[in-house]
Amino acid sequence: MPTKKLTQKDILNLKKKVLYKPKHVWDVISEKEKKQIFSFCDSYKQFLNHAKTERESVQFIESFIKDKGFELVDTGANRCYTIFNNKCLAVAIKGTAPMTDGVRLIASHIDSPRLDLKQNPLYEEVNLSLLKTHYYGGIRKYQWLARPLAIHGRIMRHKGKPLDIVIGENPDDPVFTIADLLPHLSRKKQGNKKINEAIEGEKLNVLIGGLPIGNEKIKERFKLNILKILNDQYDIIEEDFMSAELEIVPAGEARDIGFDRSMIGAYGHDDRVCVFSALKAMCQLSNPKYTAIAIFFDKEEIGSEGNTSANSNILELFISQLMACEENIVTSQSIITCLTKSKALSGDVNAAIDPDYQDVHEKRNAAKLGFGVCISKFTGHGGKYGSNDASAEYLSHIREIFNKNKIVWQTGEVGKVDEGGGGTIAKYLAMYGMDIVDCGTPVLSMHSPFEIASKPDIYMTYKSYLSFWNDK
Ligand code: MN
Ligand code: MN
Repeated sequence: MPTKKLTQKDILNLKKKVLYKPKHVWDVISEKEKKQIFSFCDSYKQFLNHAKTERESVQFIESFIKDKGFELVDTGANRCYTIFNNKCLAVAIKGTAPMTDGVRLIASHIDSPRLDLKQNPLYEEVNLSLLKTHYYGGIRKYQWLARPLAIHGRIMRHKGKPLDIVIGENPDDPVFTIADLLPHLSRKKQGNKKINEAIEGEKLNVLIGGLPIGNEKIKERFKLNILKILNDQYDIIEEDFMSAELEIVPAGEARDIGFDRSMIGAYGHDDRVCVFSALKAMCQLSNPKYTAIAIFFDKEEIGSEGNTSANSNILELFISQLMACEENIVTSQSIITCLTKSKALSGDVNAAIDPDYQDVHEKRNAAKLGFGVCISKFTGHGGKYGSNDASAEYLSHIREIFNKNKIVWQTGEVGKVDEGGGGTIAKYLAMYGMDIVDCGTPVLSMHSPFEIASKPDIYMTYKSYLSFWNDK
């Protein structure tokens, strides 16, 4: 069939009509919003500085939402929250539709990769005091050496007296560190090993002291001196370590990156960036049609195991508590109906293309810094193992919401098909039958002590969550 010859203008129009072209946030937003990006990110940095652990995140979030008028769920308040075991928090604003029509859920996680202390951590070696660690989540061990570290966590002292400590963040505090081998002595034995094998987990021991107590006749007098300091200052005895949750994290604050201050470098963007975006969006929300819930899980980084993880029944419990405000009798059928009819975003970070290691990414399907919030239809590794694969219908629904609200978004897969991959909490929530898709901020240096996120992407993550909850 003969076709009309296309003019240059026709081709341009055709391109505009049919081609997909990712947009850089900076090219399409207003001057007013450019300013909002920076002020939003300043408040995000405060969250990063005060919430490096899951417990600290829960404490920060609770005081943030209480300030905005949220109350505990059993008060029956419209804006309410609950806390599970100090390490998981769920917050909601009730909608006008009944709960059995489903809720709109954004789920993210407040734990990050780090070094936990072992139960019997304290020892001395060559007249120095050290703490033994057991790493938590996926870390590249070499990144934790020769840098200032802080200790955060909870110690349960004798007779069950809790003590929360943060040491190494105040400029007057001491910091801790893991010594690394000098280049002069690492050429052969260590230098010839593979990068993943060069540093053993048992060598991630934290240096905490070098002063002795008493004279040379006293055994373990360096360790003893540390115990004396801890006992004098905090009323701690050595056995208290056995029941403690102490986390070694990078010391120091979140910082702007670049002459243009366009990015933030910090420990724990994964997944505080989605947590904070959801938190801010929740506080902006008024009169949603469907009940809006944000849930901040723990233990994602070790596969969502345990009683504060996405694999526990925390969400069902919170749903039943919310329903109890609406109905006299809450049945398990109504809870399941609610969960099955719900729609959700799994708020988690994605890997942005690393300018130096572009070959591990598949460029047509990788996220890029600056191109907005990232949607991942599926996650997992290899042949989509361990994945949540969102449906065409649901993804189209999310696309519509984002486009209608001028959200700058992109899609992203974690890497080349055979290169690796990873999972999120999406699959645990998908088990209820709800629609869920991964949607979060792209980052560079993921799981490192200094992760990088781009400010416009952070802002678009927040805007995308707000539009999801506001959708009628
Ligand atoms: Mn994550
Ligand atoms: Mn992670």
